[in-house]
Formats: sequence, C-alpha cells, structure tokens
Amino acid sequence: MRAFQLVEWQQPPELREAPVPEPGAGQVLVKVAGAGACHSDLHIMQAPAPGDDTRLPFTLGHENAGWVETLGPGATGFAPGDPVIVYGPWGCGLCANCREGRENYCQETAGLGGGLAGHDGGMAEYLLVPASRFLIPLGSLDPRGAAPLSDAGLTSYHAVKRSLHLLGPGSTAVVIGAGGLGQMAIQILRALSAATTVVAVDTDAGKLETAKRMGADEALLSGEQAVTRIKDMTRGQGAQLVLDMVGVDPTLRMAAQMARVLGHLTIVGLGGGALPVDFSSPPHECSVASPYWGFIPELIEVITLAQQQKIKMLVEHFPLERAGAAYQLLHDGKIQGRAVITP
Ligand code: NAD
Ligand code: ZN
Ligand code: ZN
Repeated sequence: MRAFQLVEWQQPPELREAPVPEPGAGQVLVKVAGAGACHSDLHIMQAPAPGDDTRLPFTLGHENAGWVETLGPGATGFAPGDPVIVYGPWGCGLCANCREGRENYCQETAGLGGGLAGHDGGMAEYLLVPASRFLIPLGSLDPRGAAPLSDAGLTSYHAVKRSLHLLGPGSTAVVIGAGGLGQMAIQILRALSAATTVVAVDTDAGKLETAKRMGADEALLSGEQAVTRIKDMTRGQGAQLVLDMVGVDPTLRMAAQMARVLGHLTIVGLGGGALPVDFSSPPHECSVASPYWGFIPELIEVITLAQQQKIKMLVEHFPLERAGAAYQLLHDGKIQGRAVITP
C-alpha cells in the first residue's frame, strides 16, 4: 500500500510503499477514509522531543477515521464495513489513568498512538489499531469528513469541558488561534455554554471571518488592541477562560493579560513559547494548564455533538499524492479549516 512517511527529520515526508499490516490478536485493521493534517505534525517533523527515541521512518496521521476492514483473532465489537473514528492516544489499558478512559495520560505509553513517536498512522490505505476499544462507531457520520473530530474536536472539547464550571451567564471565553482546533473550540463553547460570550483572536483576517461564521461573538486581530477590547468587554476583569491554541511568546503574554483572577489560562498550542510567571501575572489564582488531547468518553460526546450537527469541521480533501502540498499550505496559513488526506 502507499503510505506518507516521515523518513528524515527536517525533510519533507515522502510517499512510499509499505506492507498492508496483518491484524494480530485483539487488533483491528481499518481502511482509512480520511486522516487530518494537524499543525502538530509540522512541529513533529522538525525534531524528536527531548528523550524521545522515535525510529524513522513512520507513517504520519494521528487524526483518523475509516471503515473496519478485518478483525484480528479475538477482537470483538465491530464488523467489517462499520464506519469508525479512531481514538488516537493509545494507552496500555491497565494503568490507573487508562482504567478511567484517560489513555492520553497513560503511565506506560504517555498516550502516543499511531502517527506519533514512530507508530504508523493513518496517512496510508490501511491503519492497524491495537485494540477495538480505540474505535468509536460513527453512525450516520461520513468517515471521509469525520477524522478531525478525533483530535481538533476532542482536544478542544477537553480543554473547554475542564473549565465549564467557570462559564456561567455573562462569562467570557477567548480563543487565541482560530485554525483547525480554534474553530472547533468556538463551536464547542457555543454548544456547551450558550450564555458565554466567545471571542476569537487571530493574526489572519480570513480566519477571523470563519470564526464569526462558526459562532464567535467577536473576532479580534491579535495584539494590544485585542487585550484592551477584552478588558472593556469585561469591566476590566478579563475573561474566565483563555485558550491559547498557538503557544508562542506573544500569544502567551497576551493570554495572561486577557485572563482574570480565579480564571483559567489553558495552553493547547505547541508553539514553543514560555509563559512568564510572577506574583501578579497571570492574575491571582488564575490556573494555568497544558492539556494533551482528551479522554475516550469525551470522544463519544464529541461524536454525539457532530451527529446533532452542533459542531462541524470545515474540511478540504487532498489525495495521498498531495499530502505534502497540504502540509505546505498548512504551514503557510492557507488552510481555512482542516486538510484531510483521503487515500
Ligand atoms: P492551525 O494551523 O490550523 O491553526 C493555527 C491558527 O493560529 C491559525 O489560524 C493562525 O492564523 C493562528 N495564529 C498563528 N499565530 C498567531 C498569533 N500570533 N496570534 C493569533 N493567532 C495566531 O493549527 P491547529 O492544527 O489548529 O493546531 C494549533 C496548535 O495546537 C498547534 O501548535 C498544534 O501543535 C497544537 N495541538 C495541540 C494539541 C494538544 O493536545 N495540546 C492537539 C492538537 C494540536
Ligand atoms: Zn494533532
Ligand atoms: Zn495506561
């Protein structure tokens, strides 16, 4: 089969021939319908994270959906042809966090699944999934467009849900970076907390337009004037929740200025910036967290929201031969929503 693989660090990935995997005991082979191109892949292509002994080559694509092709011996719960989405952080299933469905925080695997850290992902005709518990039925949803729900959707959902207790009537939530993840976060905030004022912040006017169509009440260009506007809107207090989907020095600084006392500043973007922390900034008792992906039960909730048409990713499809072009467009900020590679 054809597979889009990272062969060398800091070099463009390549389309290569790879064997179709054989599902072993408990494993499931999925025929890939779509694999999302996440901005994290652009970070991953640069260099292994410290302490990461990733072997190359491996197939990219950690945001996947498709149809069950074959079940390995003993794998149950699905039949060939079933449309499924793949929960991406593959844990051990047995540690304390995995037993709560929090396989993204597996104490054995650190939640690194297919398309990450040397494990083959979904930018290929077939994806080998190690256990059927990582598959969620898609029901009426088309797997060709659903893949982004498994990362852009789930990561944003988790980041919003953990702060939902702060988002009462009259509250304000800011989403910095209205790309793939940010657009999902805006829709999820709308769906889960109708009484919250949702503000999108981005450097790109096109993304701000999209953010408004997705339900943002206001869309602001990144910078000092955005901080001033948030302060004006909140009688000087700042926002209950600031989600930084970029994570570079300027957005982290901006996020700290936009958040309020007792609020949440949530770093989702892997931009490599650092947040200066002292007694008065971020504001007193404002919690800072850096969530990674989300929990299995939350993915089921994300799928339900999509089935109810409360959230929908703006998808651009690219054939496998154009995966490299899709990443180049993502790098250049030219993808309006999410690029999905369809083998
Ligand atoms: P994307 O490229 O689709 O979107 C990024 C958006 O940020 C774009 O709209 C861009 O215009 C905007 N932006 C860039 N610089 C900005 C600035 N200075 N101020 C305001 N906006 C700015 O990327 P994505 O796929 O949505 O991913 C977003 C980030 O989230 C990436 O860093 C990615 O690695 C990370 N990520 C983290 C997790 C996690 O589990 N924590 C999961 C997936 C992705
Ligand atoms: Zn990702
Ligand atoms: Zn585990």
